[in-house]
Amino acid sequence: MLEDPPVLGIIGGGQLGSMLSVAADKLKIKTIVLSDDKDAPAQKFCNKFIYSQYNNQNNINKFLDLVDKITFEFENIPYDILESIEKFKPVIPNPKINQIVQNRYKEKSFINKLGIQTTRWSLVKSNEDIKKNENLLPGILKTCTLGYDGKGQFVINSLKDLKKDWCFTSEYILEKKITLKQEISVIVTRFKNGKSIIYEPIENEHEHQILKKSQIPANINLKLFKESQKKAKLIANELNYIGTMCVEYFIDEQENLLVNEIAPRVHNSGHLTINAFNISQFENHIRAVCNLEMLPTNKVSNATMINILGREIKDYRNRSFQEDEFFFDYLKKEIKDKRKM
Ligand code: ADP
Ligand code: MG
Repeated sequence: MLEDPPVLGIIGGGQLGSMLSVAADKLKIKTIVLSDDKDAPAQKFCNKFIYSQYNNQNNINKFLDLVDKITFEFENIPYDILESIEKFKPVIPNPKINQIVQNRYKEKSFINKLGIQTTRWSLVKSNEDIKKNENLLPGILKTCTLGYDGKGQFVINSLKDLKKDWCFTSEYILEKKITLKQEISVIVTRFKNGKSIIYEPIENEHEHQILKKSQIPANINLKLFKESQKKAKLIANELNYIGTMCVEYFIDEQENLLVNEIAPRVHNSGHLTINAFNISQFENHIRAVCNLEMLPTNKVSNATMINILGREIKDYRNRSFQEDEFFFDYLKKEIKDKRKM
């Protein structure tokens, strides 16, 4: 007997929530998006939209009444909120994973414990701690929580950059600043049966710490190709992950592969899987979360994805495109400097 398709709740209504909704619709799965942004773009693509602060229990209850399971498009939803939601309906991937990945200190400790290399780093809580770790300079001070697109990061070239009045209101890690030869990401979708689909490594270029360009094939040797896929699979297995996730890597000048961070969700660099594969990272996420069939995922083309940032969108909106070019307007109401549009 066939089960009725579940109604899927998605927390977060940005471009990733939009594309998850589109993928779900293709599979005849209804989506209900919950977002704290009343202009959230995903409301144009989902079946029902609930605008609410994430701690408004009344609205959360309404949302819970309408959905069978819940997934999310971003990892920074406060853990206690996800935990309380999970008491009523399954949240996939498991929120415990967010607790690790939301915090750079826990994330890097987890990765290093698996025997996987990262840049050298240390937890710092004061200027004194930074002085003790002078060997990590030039370095980058990163807030342990809530950073994205380079937000919450400060370059410290030498001890001269330390300011007496820094008050360390939150925890930070200090990370050695390295010279990057390349950056790549590997996207994995892991299903309930423990099997995974692993996309080929994607090469990424950042501008001002924001992803500007992603490309396949990545210009890397076979050893790095295999090693990056193997490590991503190991991480997904260790987390007992269900759904799509992404591992971001640095490749240093000596060709060492270092994990930068883990995203427990679909990822901007995997946008190109929509056109370059028979099944996108978004569709595979929906398939894994809703326990649908895992189908062979094959590449149909090489691809380059360019993020259109801020005002650049104006020009693209009036452009015409070739047959093999695909323009995605995230339909964000407000154009902001460096915002992914
Ligand atoms: P976010 O959470 O904002 O994505 P990341 O830690 O991934 O933060 O940093 C964003 C980008 O900044 C990276 O993709 C990389 O280009 C650059 N960067 C971050 N850390 C380092 C480092 N230790 N050395 C060199 N470049 C770095
Ligand atoms: Mg990053």
